[in-house]
Amino acid sequence: MTGQTLRPFLTRATQLYPDREVVARTADGMTRYTYAEYADRVGRLANALRAAGVERGDRVATLCWNHDRHFEAYFAVPDLGAQLHTINPLLPADDVRRIVDGADDRLVFVDPSLADTLAAAYDPDAFESVEQVVVIGSSAPDLPVDSVTSFETFVAGHDADYDPPTVNEDDPAGLCYSSGTTGDPKGVEYTHRMLWSHTMAITTPMGLDIADADVVMPVVPMFHINAWGLPYAATAAGAKHVYPGPSPDPADLVELIEREGVTLTAGVPTVWLGVLDYLDDHDADLSTLSRIVIGGAAPPERLIRAFDDRGVEVVHGWGMTETAPVGAVSHLKPDLRDADYETQLAKRTKQGLILPGLEFEVVDDAGERVPHDGESMGELRVRGPWVADGYVDGPSETRRGDGAEGSVGDDAVEDSWLRTGDVVTVDSDGYIELVDRAADVIRSGGEWISSQALENAIMSHEAVREAAVVGVPHERWGERPVAYLVDDDADRDALVETVSARLREDYPDWWVPDRFEFVEAIPKTATGKFAKTDLRDRRDDPIDG
Ligand code: ADP
Repeated sequence: MTGQTLRPFLTRATQLYPDREVVARTADGMTRYTYAEYADRVGRLANALRAAGVERGDRVATLCWNHDRHFEAYFAVPDLGAQLHTINPLLPADDVRRIVDGADDRLVFVDPSLADTLAAAYDPDAFESVEQVVVIGSSAPDLPVDSVTSFETFVAGHDADYDPPTVNEDDPAGLCYSSGTTGDPKGVEYTHRMLWSHTMAITTPMGLDIADADVVMPVVPMFHINAWGLPYAATAAGAKHVYPGPSPDPADLVELIEREGVTLTAGVPTVWLGVLDYLDDHDADLSTLSRIVIGGAAPPERLIRAFDDRGVEVVHGWGMTETAPVGAVSHLKPDLRDADYETQLAKRTKQGLILPGLEFEVVDDAGERVPHDGESMGELRVRGPWVADGYVDGPSETRRGDGAEGSVGDDAVEDSWLRTGDVVTVDSDGYIELVDRAADVIRSGGEWISSQALENAIMSHEAVREAAVVGVPHERWGERPVAYLVDDDADRDALVETVSARLREDYPDWWVPDRFEFVEAIPKTATGKFAKTDLRDRRDDPIDG
């Protein structure tokens, strides 16, 4: 009996769908080949890696956009029993350096357009383990690394026939670092079994419902949690792959959808907001596109409505690096299928139903389960075959570790439950709604106030450009909310009055921030999320009892 490893996905696809295509937009134009040719290229690459000394247990890194060569590494590296470490090139150079150092990568594949990023991160000590850099192109630019070669030179002369070693389902196959919104990036290892079970779960109808007739275009980067697992799932299904290459703009994406007949695509909300703007001014034929998977952040309601109007379903998903990543998808349960549109939309904007194969619970500070009433908040915990049980680079105690007083627990994994750090409610239908992060929620008088809900409500005022709300220590209540605002030349007293009045309409009085402070800008992280830790550091000014 073979185990739950990645290889059978590829062998089956090659046997049953040899002519199905893999298409990529690259810097040199479009590439297009079949699964049969893909399998040959994977074999050639695996043989080349083996000849370069890569062995079972080694780590091979990529610093690449979404394209065919990157996809070849997705199977070739785990097939060797080695681990594919996808590095996020958008991280600051210091983080890239630390990650390469921590992961002990032996070989790095880099796109020509990211060679400068690699050079900026390079440091001889941190890169000591790196024996070779392979530039994905026909020539290699100058890099301050000892051994640099081009991809073509690297694979030249190697055979397509490849005899894989025995790989165990518990062998590590992938490594990805979280994007570090709440602290330093932390490494999560994926075993073959985790990726296998995640693949099976997301191909099912309660997952992302992927079949052989699909044409799948992952816009979410392949360096971001394996492009949400889509390259593996599309292969398992025997679907056609479309990779949009380096920095695709909305026009590129729409052109690929039209020309390749894309049926399913996926990415974060900002990508699709850009595509919507483009569609406002350009005619496009989206008739093949049946669904867009959106996750990573909550899609605004208007985004779902706008695509519905164009006949494209937005499938809202929730996940994180530690859950490989998909953990929940917002499908309509049978009794909601006849409900009116607004009722359906209210469910679809929620993060959804936990996937088959996973268990979940939502607990308060005391570890008690909260009722599923759509109002009681608690931290979401999940467990299951594709949920990580720790970190490779640093102890789990450092998770979500800004040390914020009152944050829910310290250990990431307890009794195989992963503490997600996400604060949610669950309604009576079982739909999860993310209301905040555990480090950000404000604990006032034993109750929780969602900082995100307040921020969204405040930012809906036209004179407010940005708003962040943090908890400030308070003698009597533990914490009270304070809002930091960036305004547009408003009459500030009047603005505070209107905003407070509006908040009182939608929320209990005690949710209204005790103080509104105007700032030049809200500090941000490398990926553009609010750096609330920096704001909390300013809270040396407690509110009197
Ligand atoms: P980081 O924790 O550094 O941001 P991840 O990429 O792992 O790195 O982000 C996972 C987090 O993104 C989740 O814990 C959650 O807070 C947020 N997230 C993911 N999907 C959604 C979604 N559909 N709606 C709102 N937030 C989401």
